[in-house]
Amino acid sequence: MLKPLIAALALCLYLPLAAMAQRLALSFDDGYDPDKLPNARALNNQLLKALKDNEIKSILFAAGSRVDSQEGMNLVGKWLEQGHQVGNHSYSHLNLDEKQVSLDRYLSDMERNEDVLSRLPSWSRRYRFPYLKEGNTEAKRDGVRQWLSAHGYGSGAVSIDASDWYYDQRLRAWMVRHPGESPQAFKQPYIRHLLDRAAYYAQLARQAMGREIDHVLLLHTNTINAMFLDDVISALRDAGWTFIPPEQAYADAVYQEAPDTLPAGESIVWSLAKKQGLPGLRHPAESEQYEKPRLDALGL
Ligand SMILES: [Zn+2]
Repeated sequence: MLKPLIAALALCLYLPLAAMAQRLALSFDDGYDPDKLPNARALNNQLLKALKDNEIKSILFAAGSRVDSQEGMNLVGKWLEQGHQVGNHSYSHLNLDEKQVSLDRYLSDMERNEDVLSRLPSWSRRYRFPYLKEGNTEAKRDGVRQWLSAHGYGSGAVSIDASDWYYDQRLRAWMVRHPGESPQAFKQPYIRHLLDRAAYYAQLARQAMGREIDHVLLLHTNTINAMFLDDVISALRDAGWTFIPPEQAYADAVYQEAPDTLPAGESIVWSLAKKQGLPGLRHPAESEQYEKPRLDALGL
């Protein structure tokens, strides 16, 4: 009598986990800079191919300083041609938390990027804060929020933050030290890092929101993603994630939240958790300082 009951209970406990589809949109920051990367076009094509092969629609938050050239804009235009969106990531990629960055200077830099984006056939009024920094003072934080709302912007927030940029930096340095060799050894550590961060922010969201949310992952247009995005997508799918377009993720009410923390920013989930005083939050939430020892230990 007891055994079937236990089996049934175990099944009940197991099923919700197995059936719990966690949904995720991919977003990419910056845009490939053809003035700095001789292979910008090839990298852009590789990244877009991985998205296309996996039938995933994404959003590129383009910073004018990286793409304000004919070729740069051609590469951004490819994203639109393939059904992705393009959002605003400011022109000069300023850090709003820095004391010397005034509200006026920051706002005019955001507007300057609108001029760049307006040369495209279309762009989406979503703003991604460079470094996810949303202001070190109330005046700056609220000033930018008011500007965004007055200019009809929707959220460009991130729920899952990670250090793909640091893995990319290490990969490129390794490639310089090992000319002609394949950097495949980076693949598994990189995938492990992203799976770990996705799982972390998913559980933090459950704690902070009391429910499952639709996630937005922050990645960058860089070399490591051009190389491994296809494998990253497979690994996320194997871990139970399903992919949705950014517009669908941003329809989740969590992206309407504007926590009044200072300094403001980081992932929306982290920021809500901080506001609620949840224990154990790292600050900074993500940083090379956490990843360096792992890659050093692997000799990468
Ligand atoms: Zn950026």
